[in-house]
Amino acid sequence: MFDLLIKNCTVVTLDDKRRVLPRAAIAVEGSHIVAVGLEVDGATKKVIDAAGCVAMPGLINAHTHVYQALIEGIGYDMHFDPWNWRFLFPIVSHIGPEHAEVSAQIAALEMIKSGTTTVSDHWYLHTNFDNIHLVAEAFRDAGLRHHVVYGLLDQTFAGERIDSAYMTMIRRQDVLIEAAETFISRWHQKGRTVVALGPGSTEDISDRLMRKTIEMARERGLQLATHVAGWAEIVTYAIKNYALRDLEYAHSIGLTGPDAILFHAVWLSPREMQLVVESGSKIVHCPVANAHLAYGIAPVAELRAQGVTVGLGTDGAASYTYDLFEVMKMATMLQKVKHLDAEVLTAEDALEMATVDGARVLGLEDQVGSLEPGKQADIILVDFQQPHLMMAHQVVPKLVYSARGHDVVTSIIGGQVVMENRKVLTMDEAAVLDRAREATADLVSHAGLETHDLLEAPWPRQGPRWRVAVTPEWFKTRK
Ligand SMILES: [Zn+2]
Repeated sequence: MFDLLIKNCTVVTLDDKRRVLPRAAIAVEGSHIVAVGLEVDGATKKVIDAAGCVAMPGLINAHTHVYQALIEGIGYDMHFDPWNWRFLFPIVSHIGPEHAEVSAQIAALEMIKSGTTTVSDHWYLHTNFDNIHLVAEAFRDAGLRHHVVYGLLDQTFAGERIDSAYMTMIRRQDVLIEAAETFISRWHQKGRTVVALGPGSTEDISDRLMRKTIEMARERGLQLATHVAGWAEIVTYAIKNYALRDLEYAHSIGLTGPDAILFHAVWLSPREMQLVVESGSKIVHCPVANAHLAYGIAPVAELRAQGVTVGLGTDGAASYTYDLFEVMKMATMLQKVKHLDAEVLTAEDALEMATVDGARVLGLEDQVGSLEPGKQADIILVDFQQPHLMMAHQVVPKLVYSARGHDVVTSIIGGQVVMENRKVLTMDEAAVLDRAREATADLVSHAGLETHDLLEAPWPRQGPRWRVAVTPEWFKTRK
């Protein structure tokens, strides 16, 4: 007896043969898929007639920072440093447990409603060590599969320094390590949660803590994940401080390897590309955020051509979206333009990056990323009976180039239906929206008190006249 049978849909399996099955069915027992095919039928507790839909593996967002869900739209069209220093830090340094929890809830809601079933969230914002626990609870309650990257910053963050009188986001090494230990024992491999360690970017962490974190991860068999060579300035910083380029430095202290996840990897020399290949390190590409912050275009086609596993991520607020369909499209488009070669990264490549390859990056390839017997039942249904999707002569290019997150109607994670016909079953959507509005207004008002001109300051100075200041009142009236 099946627990769930999804039938009458086109199934994009992403299995080893990359089969696409028309009018097929998927059977689920407990948390697992037990059958996928044209002839699957039998007694079942629940049936979803998915006629007109495409079933595919749930999407894997291999890198984000959900705390930034509360600050999207504050400070935009800016380079990373001024955005980080002027807008992000003064606001998010006020994030406490309440804000942390609701940031995860609003992000989880957006992710579920746009087809993401697994998320890797890099959380280093330890203004309060309860924050990250509340985020993990929020994801658990939402039903999302959660790869937590436990962040450790002990040196700087957006201008805040360890030696400043008043610290919020960066912490002493011993305190961080102890808090990380507590988190790991409570959450690692519990339910749908796994934990990795996320030392800060080269400038944010001392060499000593970087080495200590690497040692700790290897002792416990945890993955290591951090930003490497994402923006040009970080390469300059590494050369100045360590006489090595950023990825060379990471490699020199043992950060690279099959258990290492490197976010962005935009500014790689030919030798550094070789280090990625030889070490078996995994890469997460965040094309939308990279484009918005003008980081550059990562050498994704080059890395894939040499067998490197590359997943996709949204990154934080700079991408303005948790929609991985948008990210898939941007990933292919940027590579085509960069190489002046329409074949260099295809729709199929992008779909692999958002599913099977993302699973490989997060070390979850035995569990998720494809629809086949034995895997976890992480399945999304995309409604193709719509003007922009119905003329699907080929399903995959329509999924990557035409579909959007809001075309996902049903989402199943580990056999649990978390959204059905666009209704999220694990969260009270209206209540989350209300809480998120209040939390953002609260943060903005604190930041405004501290910096006065922060939100009024036009950026860039020669920017459009209609770019008005955001005030806390603006959020309060958004009902
Ligand atoms: Zn990031």
